[in-house]
Amino acid sequence: MRTPETVSVTLVRGDITEQTVDVIVNAANSSLLGGGGVDGAIHRRGGVDILRECRELRASHYGKGLPTGRAVATTAGRLDARWVVHTVGPVWSGAEDRSALLASCYRESLRVAAELGARTVAFPAISTGIYGWPMDDGARIAVRTVLAEAVPPVEEVRFVLFDAHAYEEFREALAGRG
Ligand code: ADP
Repeated sequence: MRTPETVSVTLVRGDITEQTVDVIVNAANSSLLGGGGVDGAIHRRGGVDILRECRELRASHYGKGLPTGRAVATTAGRLDARWVVHTVGPVWSGAEDRSALLASCYRESLRVAAELGARTVAFPAISTGIYGWPMDDGARIAVRTVLAEAVPPVEEVRFVLFDAHAYEEFREALAGRG
């Protein structure tokens, strides 16, 4: 696995809306108009400017919503960040392997972040909440994809894990390098 030495991957337990970074990644839904979990927390704390830009994106480029696995940036409003990058994770399915879509969320978010010139990027554990992805598998895909895809100007990718279980699964994935 190619791991650019200039990029460090770190883990913290906490609330992603309290991070000081260039980019906060949002586990959004395709409507871009808010939801529960991380999405709700980001809009609550970030304020109305984020939602206004999301509405503009719906009215312009994404009339049918943002497709699963894609990513798009808005302002970060009152968050201590420069941008929020919204990405739509796949809903977990036992019948169909949607891993490539989950990997795409991390890859596309990093691509958008790099295009913006971001150096620090905070990710939640995409799809592992309301969308039901098992945490161990979600952590492996997240770690593996970030190690393979993060390139300068991104210098730090920080996974912000909400609870002890998520933190432990990401710690194990990182120890095994995804
Ligand atoms: P999804 O719909 O992609 O599953 P969720 O927001 O429901 O997204 O959950 C994704 C992960 O983020 C879950 O592991 C959840 O526990 C976690 N989470 C929820 N709120 C926060 C927060 N404020 N900061 C960081 N992680 C959070």
